[in-house]
Amino acid sequence: MQLTQRRKMVSNKTLSFSERLYLPAILGGMFTTFKHLFKSKPTIKYPEQKRPMAPVYRGQHVLKRDDEGAERCTACGMCAVACPAEAITMESAERKKGEEHLYREEKYAQTYEINMLRCIFCGLCEEACPKEAIFLTDRLVSTDFDRNPFIYGKDKLVEPIDERVDVSKRQTPEVLEFKKRPGLKHNTTALSKLHSTTNA
Ligand code: SF4
Ligand code: SF4
Repeated sequence: MQLTQRRKMVSNKTLSFSERLYLPAILGGMFTTFKHLFKSKPTIKYPEQKRPMAPVYRGQHVLKRDDEGAERCTACGMCAVACPAEAITMESAERKKGEEHLYREEKYAQTYEINMLRCIFCGLCEEACPKEAIFLTDRLVSTDFDRNPFIYGKDKLVEPIDERVDVSKRQTPEVLEFKKRPGLKHNTTALSKLHSTTNA
């Protein structure tokens, strides 16, 4: 049964004398090689040399903290649902009293993992996140000889409190304008929420 229209008829024509010598084909190939000797080389000596990256390059993810250092992720699972590679898994937990400085919402991600071998760096997790908790950054995922190190947990994903990861290049003027809209509460920090309820 014919499955596609892409079949090609194979020619059985007999080779001419010059074709049987293979010399013209060899010389043609050498000429092509020689031509490329004088062209500028597309390869670079990485890691000594590095190419300039696009400001919105999609590399290793970061799980952001808010201005007061609390983790923004609320383990809603939207990123995992949006991920076409099924690379994200997480387990949620309930925030306890006194942990407001650690987690911004009542629910947080107890574990959060991204399988970097599955990830295709499409950025859909970032787009799906309603809490501005996950961003892709211009950092490269490290290479390794084993598979296990490519499962990135919270230890590698959550930004260190004293070493914030700059994602401002991904915050386009349109996004920043959108965030100023009245009624959008997702940028209110946990501690400021707590203060406003205490003062009320
Ligand atoms: S960048 Fe794309 S593939 Fe990678 S974790 Fe996010 S949604 Fe999944
Ligand atoms: S990173 Fe964002 S979308 Fe993913 S679970 Fe956390 S809050 Fe939800």
